[in-house]
Amino acid sequence: MASAPDAPATGTAPKISFVSLGCPKALVDSERIITKLRSEGYELSKGHAGADLVIVNTCGFLDSAKAESLGAIGEAMAENGRVIVTGCMGAEPEQIRERFPNVLAITGPQAYESVVGAVHEAAPPVHDPFLDLVPEQGIKLTPRHYAYLKISEGCNNRCTFCIIPKLRGDLVSRPAGDVLREAEKLARAGVKELLVISQDTSAYGVDLKYAASPWRDREVRARFFDLSEALSELGIWVRLHYVYPYPHVDEVVGLMAEGKVLPYIDIPFQHASPGVLKAMRRPAHQEKTAERIRRWREICPDLAVRSTFIVGFPGETEEDFAFLLDWLREARLDRVGCFRFEPVAGAPANDLAGAVRQEVKDERWHRFMQVQQDISAARLKTRVGRRIPVIIDEPGPTVSKGRSKWDAPEIDGSVYVASRRPLRAGDIVTVRVERSDAYDLHGTAV
Ligand code: SF4
Repeated sequence: MASAPDAPATGTAPKISFVSLGCPKALVDSERIITKLRSEGYELSKGHAGADLVIVNTCGFLDSAKAESLGAIGEAMAENGRVIVTGCMGAEPEQIRERFPNVLAITGPQAYESVVGAVHEAAPPVHDPFLDLVPEQGIKLTPRHYAYLKISEGCNNRCTFCIIPKLRGDLVSRPAGDVLREAEKLARAGVKELLVISQDTSAYGVDLKYAASPWRDREVRARFFDLSEALSELGIWVRLHYVYPYPHVDEVVGLMAEGKVLPYIDIPFQHASPGVLKAMRRPAHQEKTAERIRRWREICPDLAVRSTFIVGFPGETEEDFAFLLDWLREARLDRVGCFRFEPVAGAPANDLAGAVRQEVKDERWHRFMQVQQDISAARLKTRVGRRIPVIIDEPGPTVSKGRSKWDAPEIDGSVYVASRRPLRAGDIVTVRVERSDAYDLHGTAV
């Protein structure tokens, strides 16, 4: 292991190397930390070697994520030696200290001030903060044309496979005015698509008792519907992630039908069998979800529903699994991710009886994917022949890669757009869809 280099000489801006691991929520935390440090004059370094210190924002959700986080810390220690660890794994400092006793500091999730404090101590800021160098909207780690907008932290649910409430605490919503001002800044800076995230988006504002806060010339309540409607006034794409199928979501689907919010809803159903959902202690597990989806499609026929599922949860029987497959065939979701159950240290699900053998998990996963792939492909095919708006992510000389309103970045499919005129990232172009395959659409810009 390399020994720790000295603190930076005074007078030059300290350089920070940053590693961001984990989910979009962690990415937003990283953006906040970087924005704060840049506003104080710190510079970002491209590699660990030339940096004054390294910050590793870790993920501790699954054991595999923890292993990746420990690997990243190890790399930073070897290449630099002055390392600050933050994020979800920071909630369990013993595990990190055991492997890396010389890390400079360990802070938990959402602990922006502690991270920044640790950086100040290890590499004090120079007293010329270059405030003008920081764009008004902060520093984004996502491409310039889309941005994640975090509306709350923590979660009031207690799903048995999840340790997020333990790591991040109960739900704390941001006042609607704060969220809207951040969204406005992003829109002014050229962001064309906002991805609204939280642990449980439909629960937004419960902790604030839906209190109103000022925005522009009026008060906006901290309610899922009110916030979504106000965001739609910005005139950019608004995409909603991590929504649960509560009855009040119907009114937000109404906004989708009116074209105010993208006709896209990301609901982590995780399972369909009532027994498994109960063992998972999932929110809204008593809702008749297939019926609810049917109702949403009546309100907004163009709606795309995305979800994730877990197979092989402790106690999942062959009947439970067959129920899930039947439910999938009925619900006809557009985009689906599926995970094999993996125990997470500290999660109550680990103590449940009826562990499912790995071969059975693998076999169920393959059967699940087979059923869903056919459904997703058939759903995509219904888009062929239409003219649709597509946001360009990666321009190419003859074919550019973009996304439709039904595709979120990183997790869904793409639209490959042939165009004779040059396209730029963030352009929204009308595309005639000519064909589809298992995941993607192909067409020509008109
Ligand atoms: S809803 Fe469940 S899975 Fe999601 S963060 Fe809350 S406890 Fe975890």
